[in-house]
Amino acid sequence: MVKLKPVLGIIGGGQLGSMLANAAKKLKIKTIVLSDDPKAPAKNFCDEIIISEYEKQKTIEDFASKVDVVTFEFENIPFKVLEYISKLKPVFPKPSINQIVQNRFIEKEFINNIGIKTTNYALISNQSDIANKEELFPGLLKTCTLGYDGKGQFVLKNREETRELKIEFGKEYILEKKVNLKKEISVVITRFLNNDFTIYEPIENLHINQILDKSIIPADINKNIFEKAQQQAKLIAEKLDYVGTMCVEYFIDEKNNLLVNEIAPRVHNSGHLTINTHNVSQFENHIRAVCNLEKVELKKFCNAEMINIIGEEIKTYREKSYSKNEFFFDYLKSDIKEKRKMGHLTILKL
Ligand code: ADP
Ligand code: MG
Repeated sequence: MVKLKPVLGIIGGGQLGSMLANAAKKLKIKTIVLSDDPKAPAKNFCDEIIISEYEKQKTIEDFASKVDVVTFEFENIPFKVLEYISKLKPVFPKPSINQIVQNRFIEKEFINNIGIKTTNYALISNQSDIANKEELFPGLLKTCTLGYDGKGQFVLKNREETRELKIEFGKEYILEKKVNLKKEISVVITRFLNNDFTIYEPIENLHINQILDKSIIPADINKNIFEKAQQQAKLIAEKLDYVGTMCVEYFIDEKNNLLVNEIAPRVHNSGHLTINTHNVSQFENHIRAVCNLEKVELKKFCNAEMINIIGEEIKTYREKSYSKNEFFFDYLKSDIKEKRKMGHLTILKL
């Protein structure tokens, strides 16, 4: 018997896993989520959820036996877990990509090696590595691995400040020169198994305290930057042999230089507005790519602005009423935590 639609396994049960499951449902694809969080919000959106630590062989085998293809919502899944799953079922994007993008230093080396500019940076393993990096101040010291939403980052005016910090030098860090930002943008791209791709227009992003606050299309940028950002995102996806949706975050400095900040090997917060602005969202495109369905020509219906709802703010948003141009997404997280993304609102500019 020919199996028409695969069963999709999604590792991670947060809001991205939830929105992937929703998009899969639209395509009549069954989803099974694997999460280590008993309260994972994706349980509200998927067909089945398996709750377990990720590093349990029995769980991995059980999960893999139930699905045809596997993807993930976040890049920090232990590499050996993804690698083991990939011996049992196809995993997209391929796990080796995570080894590059899980580590900020390796990621920046990769980007520069393919001829794309980033901020200036250095690998920092001990206090004396900082002492001779005067040219990188003012700067940001970031843990090489496991940082997100500004976590694991220190903004440093000068070298002296680093002495006051209790930096755990068991870990590795990257020191980046602070860019005088004119703007931040991102490009969301989906690459398919046959090397074809679909790409969204650049999105303008505003951050508060290193957490994304707002995303807007159209981005207020010139044609040159628009095209260059798309070309670079395409080159990165090709060089990584990427399958699925990914996002490239960019800085634009005062002199209009375009610099890659980081690569997210997954659907991205700045792409949430595509659910309402385009015929195919970043989530649906990801499902189409990893499940090897056909590519649909992208059409934009309208411009929009997306606002992230953080922590306690969700309470007021839950009480509000919305106009037909406003789309409120509640991630249905069971606990409200400070600085945590709880939902988002997309406002269409009709
Ligand atoms: P995360 O993985 O937490 O998203 P990022 O490296 O993207 O970490 O940093 C989060 C935000 O912090 C960026 O979007 C930007 O606003 C600010 N930031 C990070 N690095 C720099 C830098 N070198 N110069 C200026 N701003 C920065
Ligand atoms: Mg970022």
